[in-house]
Amino acid sequence: MKQSRQAGGERQIRFTHASRRESAGPSAPFSGQANEPGPDCPLCPRLKDFRDANRAQHPHWFNAPVPSFGPVDAQLLIVGLAPGLQGANRTGRPFTGDFAGDLLYGTLTDLGFAEGVFEARPDDSLRLIDCRITNAVRCVPPQNKPLPVEIKTCRTFMQAAVEEMPRLRAIVMLGRVSHDTTLKMLGLRAADAPFKHGAEHQAGAIRLFDSYHCSRYNTNTGVLTPQMFRAVFARVRDYLG
Ligand code: SF4
Repeated sequence: MKQSRQAGGERQIRFTHASRRESAGPSAPFSGQANEPGPDCPLCPRLKDFRDANRAQHPHWFNAPVPSFGPVDAQLLIVGLAPGLQGANRTGRPFTGDFAGDLLYGTLTDLGFAEGVFEARPDDSLRLIDCRITNAVRCVPPQNKPLPVEIKTCRTFMQAAVEEMPRLRAIVMLGRVSHDTTLKMLGLRAADAPFKHGAEHQAGAIRLFDSYHCSRYNTNTGVLTPQMFRAVFARVRDYLG
């Protein structure tokens, strides 16, 4: 994905499909449908090994790249970091099964971006409204810490998720890793859009919103309060109308 400057100085995002792969199969990177990685995506050897170990230890868990959640015609995309080991990696839905989902889905429901009852399992009645969620890295990393090369490699799938959203107008980036990889995907310089909770940036027709990640660590330490988190999504709601 690249940016160019138009006559009026406005940045225009141009999507390129050079990295898109059409292959499919058990170990193909793409699943062949909906631009999602295949269940055995082999592109990050360390994460593949971790996936295999988790499959052996917990055969009833999801243990695969976690797909994006929510309608592709949404105006809002939320970009998280990576699946939690006993959260999305276990249940197969982003922010489902660990603490971060309680705050995220409660906030989204309060502001009209979700409806139904969040019960921390993928077959609950929760439904996203005009909102979609993806992760910067689709596979669970050891200690919840993806390597830079893994973030870069999986950016292919984040780009694919963005490209298939024709009405996209806003992206909420949860945490610095999400912020940095989203900027790179959009061709923005970090110096032009420094990370700060509550900051907003413009990338062509897309408004970017920064937030601290809604992890238990951030909320337990007071780095992020529910009020601070809600304020970001209230701004998004105002922006989208
Ligand atoms: S993190 Fe992304 S690129 Fe890496 S193995 Fe998983 S799905 Fe493939």
